[in-house]
Amino acid sequence: MIELVSALKRASRGEVLRDVPLAPRTSVRVGGPAQLWVRPRDPEALVAVLGVLCDAGVPWFALGGGANTVVGDGGVEGAVLKLAPDFAAEQVEEGGDHALLTLGAGAPIARFVSLAREQRGVGVAWAAGIPGTVGGMVTMNAGTATGAAADHLEAVEVATPDGLRWVPAAELRLSYRRCELPQGAVLTRARCRVRRGAEPEVQEDSRSAKADVERRRATQPLSLPNSGSVFVNPRGDFAGRLIEQVGLKGERRGGAQISDKHANFIVNLGDATAADVVELIALARGKVLAATGIELQPEVRLVGTFRPPLPEELSPHHFVPLLRRRSA
Ligand SMILES: Cc1cc2nc3c(=O)[nH]c(=O)nc-3n(C[C@H](O)[C@H](O)[C@H](O)COP(=O)(O)OP(=O)(O)OC[C@H]3O[C@@H](n4cnc5c(N)ncnc54)[C@H](O)[C@@H]3O)c2cc1C
Repeated sequence: MIELVSALKRASRGEVLRDVPLAPRTSVRVGGPAQLWVRPRDPEALVAVLGVLCDAGVPWFALGGGANTVVGDGGVEGAVLKLAPDFAAEQVEEGGDHALLTLGAGAPIARFVSLAREQRGVGVAWAAGIPGTVGGMVTMNAGTATGAAADHLEAVEVATPDGLRWVPAAELRLSYRRCELPQGAVLTRARCRVRRGAEPEVQEDSRSAKADVERRRATQPLSLPNSGSVFVNPRGDFAGRLIEQVGLKGERRGGAQISDKHANFIVNLGDATAADVVELIALARGKVLAATGIELQPEVRLVGTFRPPLPEELSPHHFVPLLRRRSA
C-alpha cells in the first residue's frame, strides 16, 4: 500500500490520502470513507494515475461535487478520484451568434452559467440552481423541464489509462438523466455551445434563472442535506407525486426522512446513515410499485459498500461499478 501511495503521488502531482471520509464530500452527508483519495493536478496527471491504478488492479470511481451520490456506510474500496475546479484551463471560442465554452470537468456547474453569461449566452437558466460539477452535469445529463446538458454539449475529453481523447456528444447517447461514457473513462473537459443573445434576451434569461432558484427555495428542502431528486420521473408523471400519493411524505428511518416539503427528496436530519437512506428508497419503490404498477428508477448513484447489502432490486442495475481496466 505504501508503494502504491508513493506511485500515485508521483503520478498525480497532487493530493493522495488514505481513509478519507466521503460523507462530508457528498451533499446528503452519509457513508463511509474512501480507501484512497486522489486529486490529480491536471488531465495528463489523471492519465498517469489511471495507469498506476490499472497496473495495481485497484478499482476507481470519479466523484464530482457529490450532489447526486449516496456512498454506502462501508465506504469505497479502491480509489476515489476528485478533480479540482482548476483541474483544466477553461477556454472560450467566440462565434458570431454562439460561443464554444470549454470547461474542466471539476469546475462547478455555476461556472458554466457565469461563463455563458460573460459571453451573452442565453438558454442556460435551467442550470443556475443545480449543484455539482461539470463532470457530474455531463454524466447525469443534468437538467430541468426547460433544458439539459445535452442541449449544449458538443464534445467531451476523456481520460483512460491509454491517454486523452475527444469524444463527440453524439456518441454519448445522451437522454433523460443518462449518458454513456466510454468504459473506464473519466471526463476531463466538456465543450459546450451556447447561443448568444441581444441584451434584452440575456436579461430575460437571467430573470428566469433567478425565478428558478426562488422556485427551488420554495419547493425543495434546501436547508437539510439531500442528494436532489431520488428517482427520475416516470414518463408522464412525477416521482414526488407518486410517493406522496402512497402516504410516505415525512416518513422516517433512523436519521433519514422522505422530505415533508418534496416527497422525491430524502433529507438527512443529522445522523442518517446510508442504510437509512436505502431503506427509504426501497420503501418508496415498493409502495409505489404495489399501488400503481410503476417501478421508480433511482436517479441518485449508489456507490461503494452498503451494509446491509443493497436490496436485490437496487443492485446491480443502479450500482455504479468501480471499473477495472480491461485486460489488453
Ligand atoms: C438540492 C439539489 C437539487 C438538484 N437539482 C437538480 C436538478 O434540477 N436537475 C438535475 O439534473 N440534477 C439535480 N440535482 C442532482 C445533481 O446536482 C446533478 O446530478 C449534478 O449534475 C451532479 O453533479 P456532481 O458533480 O455533484 O456529481 P456526483 O454526484 O459527484 O457524480 C454523479 C455521477 O457522475 C459521475 N462523475 C462525476 N464527475 C465525473 C467525471 N469527471 N468523470 C466521470 N464520471 C464523473 C460520478 O461517478 C457519478 O456516477 C440536484 C441535487 C441537489 C442536492
